Amino acid sequence: MRRPRFLLRDNLGRLARWLRILGYDAVVMKAIPFSTIISRATKERRIFLSRCAKEMKLPAGVAHQLIRSDNHLKQLRELLPLLVLDESMLFTRCIRCNRLLTTIDPARMQDRIPAYVAQTHKHFTLCRHCGKVYWQGTHYADMKRTLTDIFQTNEETS
Ligand SMILES: [Zn+2]
Repeated sequence: MRRPRFLLRDNLGRLARWLRILGYDAVVMKAIPFSTIISRATKERRIFLSRCAKEMKLPAGVAHQLIRSDNHLKQLRELLPLLVLDESMLFTRCIRCNRLLTTIDPARMQDRIPAYVAQTHKHFTLCRHCGKVYWQGTHYADMKRTLTDIFQTNEETS
């Protein structure tokens, strides 16, 4: 199955960040007019996500889902039927700007990585678009645990 790609309304920014953590291509748009959003979703075959029921009246062929919760983790649960937790995909995208990350050698990025981090971590990635450097610290472990919990409770209830 092809991994779905998403296009989210700008009030779903936190949900987009979690989709990116899972490795999904999740674009956020605050485009006005609305037709700009729809043409992009159509052209790039993205699933359009919005909290606004009115925006669900779309031309045939535009995949979409109404998001009901106002909590980002509950929103993620609403999408579970579409998602898989694939360890190899976790943290492969920039959480800020959705671009794919590149693995880097910390020795080449000494100006960007604190010395104690470089000493205590092995895996570093860089977003070549926004310049953010990521490493698998405690934050990483926390996010992974949150995701594992969400996917596990889903299995228990289904
Ligand atoms: Zn970035």
